[in-house]
Amino acid sequence: MDTFNFEVRRSRIQGRGLFALTDLPARRKLGELGGELITEREARRRARGRASVMIVEFGDGTALDATRLGTGFKYVNHSCEPNAYMRLCRGRVEFYSLREIAAGEELTCDYGETHHDGRLPCRCGSARCRGAL
Ligand SMILES: [Zn+2]
Repeated sequence: MDTFNFEVRRSRIQGRGLFALTDLPARRKLGELGGELITEREARRRARGRASVMIVEFGDGTALDATRLGTGFKYVNHSCEPNAYMRLCRGRVEFYSLREIAAGEELTCDYGETHHDGRLPCRCGSARCRGAL
């Protein structure tokens, strides 16, 4: 498998983001989120009242909490017009490129539904922005 290099730095979208240090090909696995495998119930308990969590629910009663133990991929911000996507597979969250990504670009993916329930304004800056998360 190819290894690509990424860097966490300040993002124009929000807080910190994950940026490509090299050009990335389309449709390629970029890396994994990592973190702590927990129950969905525990995930919801942890998410309550916290502004910033990186928890992915698998829909089978389990979830991955990357907030403390995850890799740099926990800094991937949401965009309504993303250049990457998450693939959920038995307790793992893998990131793939949707298209070619140039060195220096911020990695983004579409979070879909979030625990914010549409109350968090989206600042992705895309012309196709849905407005909220
Ligand atoms: Zn948006």
